[in-house]
Amino acid sequence: MKWRYGDPSAHDPEVLPTEEEITVIDIYSTATKLSFKRFPSHSIAEDLALNGYLATAPLHPELAISFKTLELFRSIRLFKASFSTEAFAKLLCHMYTIPYRRFYRTALADAFDIYLTLLRDVKTQVMGALGRDAPGWRAKNACPACNYKIVGEEPPTFNRMIVMDGNNSLKRVATSGGRQQADLRVFEDHDYFLPRDFVDQYANEVKSRQVPRKPELVEDPHAMPEAESEDEAAPEAEGDPTDGAEQLGACASNWKAAAADEKKRMWSIYDESGIFASACRHSLILWIADMVRSGELAKYGIATTAKVLTEIGGKNMHGYDIGCEFLATVNNSSIGEAFRDSGSCFCVNAFHGYSHSYTCQVKFHPLRIVGMGLEDLETMERIFSASNQLASITRYASPYRCRVLIAMFFEHWDSEKYSNIGLMLYNNYRQALQIIEEKTPMLHEAMSALQITEADLEKYRAEEREYFSSLRDEDPEDLRDVLYVEALRELEELRDTSARYYDRTARAADAAAKAGSGPALTFLTPTSGPTTYDADLSATRKLETRRRYLRDRVDQLTADVNEIEVRFGIEKRWEPMDEKYLKAVKYIATRTYQRALGRLQRLVIQRLFELHKMNIAQTGYKARTYIAKNLQRRCKAIRTAVKAYNAAASALDPPRETIDWSTASHYNFIEQFPFLQDTRNDLREKSWAMPAGREVMRLSERVARAHEEIKNVHRELRRLQTWIRDEEQLFTAVLADLKDKNPELHGAVLEFWRRRKTANARNAAYIHATHTLPGFSGIREPGTHDGPSLLPSHLQGAATSAAPDMLTEMAGISVGDSELPDLVEEEDEMDEQMTGLLEFMHTLAL
Ligand SMILES: [Zn+2]
Ligand SMILES: [Zn+2]
Repeated sequence: MKWRYGDPSAHDPEVLPTEEEITVIDIYSTATKLSFKRFPSHSIAEDLALNGYLATAPLHPELAISFKTLELFRSIRLFKASFSTEAFAKLLCHMYTIPYRRFYRTALADAFDIYLTLLRDVKTQVMGALGRDAPGWRAKNACPACNYKIVGEEPPTFNRMIVMDGNNSLKRVATSGGRQQADLRVFEDHDYFLPRDFVDQYANEVKSRQVPRKPELVEDPHAMPEAESEDEAAPEAEGDPTDGAEQLGACASNWKAAAADEKKRMWSIYDESGIFASACRHSLILWIADMVRSGELAKYGIATTAKVLTEIGGKNMHGYDIGCEFLATVNNSSIGEAFRDSGSCFCVNAFHGYSHSYTCQVKFHPLRIVGMGLEDLETMERIFSASNQLASITRYASPYRCRVLIAMFFEHWDSEKYSNIGLMLYNNYRQALQIIEEKTPMLHEAMSALQITEADLEKYRAEEREYFSSLRDEDPEDLRDVLYVEALRELEELRDTSARYYDRTARAADAAAKAGSGPALTFLTPTSGPTTYDADLSATRKLETRRRYLRDRVDQLTADVNEIEVRFGIEKRWEPMDEKYLKAVKYIATRTYQRALGRLQRLVIQRLFELHKMNIAQTGYKARTYIAKNLQRRCKAIRTAVKAYNAAASALDPPRETIDWSTASHYNFIEQFPFLQDTRNDLREKSWAMPAGREVMRLSERVARAHEEIKNVHRELRRLQTWIRDEEQLFTAVLADLKDKNPELHGAVLEFWRRRKTANARNAAYIHATHTLPGFSGIREPGTHDGPSLLPSHLQGAATSAAPDMLTEMAGISVGDSELPDLVEEEDEMDEQMTGLLEFMHTLAL
């Protein structure tokens, strides 16, 4: 700090220094030697530091690296997280025109660790000077849009919208032996990470569910072998996020099936198998938990939720891709009561919502939840798609470095997202205005055409919820009948087939006997000349095997049928014309139909997800190729599934309409599934289930959410605006106070403030841009913070009036209206595509 912000020449004039020389690396000067003054009262490291160099060893360093070089390396990494130490070491050697040796890499890595530690130390002091050093300050206060309440503002429906999710790309391979064993440091001095023992407190609250095996009745002949057989995976003793619910719901099975793929990878080879992260809707990180030698267990989510309850409090909405089932898990856990008392809730993030059952969407989809605004809660997806690029350098790093890198990445992420809050709110506001402008006339037109009122729509919604919550699983009695009739049918069929085989083989034997070669073996009558004798023999053997198999199968089925009859007291075997038999046959057709439909639905949704992944920027080329291949396979599978569906639909009584490939490949197709599922035709008469009815409900929800978004942005924008003004005052006061008292710390705070000021200026520009949008209806002036002053107590009242009005200043200099389009273009590509796709999905039905 002294080197950077202080006066390097300041020293005690009484003691004369000696001159010394050391080998150095400095990318800017490419100097190889540095002669510097050694002061007996200093350590050599201090003396080097005063010259702008970091010693690579504390006592007898042979090499020193300049701070500027290390700072360059750090800055490159901020913008290209995957840039490795090795690459930078090679770059240095290139600049110096010396051959690369591993020694440079090691020295650089060690020096970089120390450099980051120094920076963290400086940051701690800066935060202390700003009064931001209380434990938990960051999570609670880092996002002004979430936290900086204004006197008199309209209270939000949810205190905060929080997202959480696990991701395995940042896994770290456990090493057995080798040099990394030596690095036993534990990186704890960062408040992003939830300590392992805190997380483990919640470890045994949820036991892993042993998946009950349902009797498999009809084996779908088209089923792909890779589907539906993962339940065998070794049971984990700790439960996953869905295991706390009393029953295994449809969403949970889908989620488990998706996770099963991951589960198969051996977690034990990874020490940290990934991270479980949480953030606010503005993408600022709350906490990160290491997932340790496991997949996504319940404890990570519970620990995060517990932290939200104690550190943030209030009524929050949590978005999680398995939120529907996890809600039950949380309710059954030790934090269940506190969670219910807070009034908080879970929902499913928008895009994932589409893969959940309709029943679930009715309750958990953000579009359906009053107060959500237009928030899609897909934040984690965006965060992970960015953090994935860290994967290549963290995989084999020591636990210490791995955490350091993750912390560094997210710290930078947070500062970028902070400077983006204004832009995000600006975009949301424009989107909301646009929806209101476009959809409101459509909505009114549709409502008057159908002659319905807002009250009718409300009634529709209630009916729809009612219908989907009353849907039940299959009746066990129906299932038993199906089992029985299936066995009877197969038995009948097999008897026919095997009778034919017996016939054939018997005839062959007769023919052989007549030919005088004896009946010892059964074989086919030679149908061709002697050259094909071998082929004939092999065919005969095959036939024999087949016959034996058929006989065994008939025996086994007969035993099965007998057992069912005895167990369920069926005295007289059912005949194909019996009423019960016919009813079961009809039911089987329905089941076959439902299965074919279910499979088709799953495939279409998977395809949609893959298209979605393709669209996310930063999906690497390899991944894209892989996904593209998958998509091709999926399309083939969908064609097969469509065929199976059509066969099943025609077998129904009355038959259903068949579909073709072009229908199935269209996005709109998803919305049809819940209605195709209704084979009892209960929905035929319901207005809410009619396409027109659904269309209107969807429109009205979309418009309602847009109006909420307007209110949310009004509130958050004003919080941000007020914060920027207050923060300016804080820095002015703190800097004035430090100037003489502690010039070095003053320098550090000033540098921090310069960056912060740039971010604030950017935010201020977008606040101004939002204010000038045609249709802006909020308050344009900043308010008064509803809470304690930002200023540390000893500075309160000191410099409050001195601060200039930054907002007007910024609005004037940085964004003339002509510049605005440029700024807006900066919006990152990924966000745009994601929003585009989500927007598209919203315009479909749920
Ligand atoms: Zn926020
Ligand atoms: Zn669900």
